[in-house]
Amino acid sequence: MKVPLSQPDITEAEIEAVVSVLRSSRLSIGPKQEEFEQQMAVYIGVPHAIAVSSGTAGLHLCIRALGISKGDEVIVPSFTFIAAANAIRYEGAVPVFIDIEPETLNLDPSRLEEAITPKTRAILVVHTFGCPADMDAILDIGRRHHLLVIEDACEAIGAEYKGRKVGSFGDAAVFAFYPNKQITTGEGGIVVTPHEQVARSIRALRNQGRYESDDWFQHDTLGYNYRLSEISCALGCVQLQRIESILARREAVAQKYDEILRSRKELTVPPIALHHKRISWFVYVIRLAANFGQLQRDAVVQFLATKGISCGRYFAPIHKQPAYRHYKVRHPLPATESISRRTIALPFFNGLADPDIEQVCTSLMRSVESICLEREQAKI
Ligand SMILES: *Cc1c(COP(=O)(O)O)cnc(C)c1O
Repeated sequence: MKVPLSQPDITEAEIEAVVSVLRSSRLSIGPKQEEFEQQMAVYIGVPHAIAVSSGTAGLHLCIRALGISKGDEVIVPSFTFIAAANAIRYEGAVPVFIDIEPETLNLDPSRLEEAITPKTRAILVVHTFGCPADMDAILDIGRRHHLLVIEDACEAIGAEYKGRKVGSFGDAAVFAFYPNKQITTGEGGIVVTPHEQVARSIRALRNQGRYESDDWFQHDTLGYNYRLSEISCALGCVQLQRIESILARREAVAQKYDEILRSRKELTVPPIALHHKRISWFVYVIRLAANFGQLQRDAVVQFLATKGISCGRYFAPIHKQPAYRHYKVRHPLPATESISRRTIALPFFNGLADPDIEQVCTSLMRSVESICLEREQAKI
């Protein structure tokens, strides 16, 4: 048996769309970029969408275009992908880590106010694993303290909070299309924003600092090449047209896991439905019970690997990464530290069949039970 952790869902329609771009000889800055941006703006319900070369590039441009710079502080969870904090550091700003809520794994709004200082400029909220963060509370605190709100929606395309798509709440938001995300462009991302000036600035920054009116060799600002190719945009258009069926299939996979695993006392499954929220399933992450530790978690992952089942350890907290060893953690992160030691991302993708899900669960429980048994025997 060989079960990967994730796998993109590519049909003949995507292949045809890519081939027809290759035949067109227009490979960058063309009609597919415009089409992808327009479709995405309509889908999310925002006025402006700018395609970029990755989610990380998109986050960087948000920080830059919103004027966050050296010495400014941005509040961000540590329990997430490292790009969220790196984007802040690229501009010399300081990520300030706060803890998460154990149920949703999203940043805990009750921890926000104690992290705000006179240098705080923004809250970078991540919709973790496709579960919408508590936007009412976050926007309310943001407004009261005059902070920008940036949504890292890289894991959450299609997720909704109170009937509105995530990505439509903040001053800017980013989606990502790496092959393990809900939809893919190979590599790629998109920034959305309600602010016309921010959109204009991001368009220039992704294109070597050129504004629309500039000629090719006029660069008004220090820019980057963060463009997304026509090939990727064409792929993204087809994936976006299929998104409802993709999200429905992912939800069905999550429900199947939930059915099998939810009553097991040795582990906690993710919430399958939440009031006011539509989850867009990015990954399916369970965690072992609190009496398990990192060693046991790693043993389970190792055991599954010997059975041909690939699992992930989402996330090793950012503040524990060697790249962050010089960073002072100002606020305690007990939920982040305790939960991150016990998480296992199970194989999760559209094409995962029910018998494979059953097999993954059987192997998982066999491993967990054997650890429990060893412990019992050690006690005697
Ligand atoms: C995937 C992801 C990103 C961006 O990733 P890229 O590989 O640069 O597209 C950013 N933040 C989070 C939380 C992510 O999961």
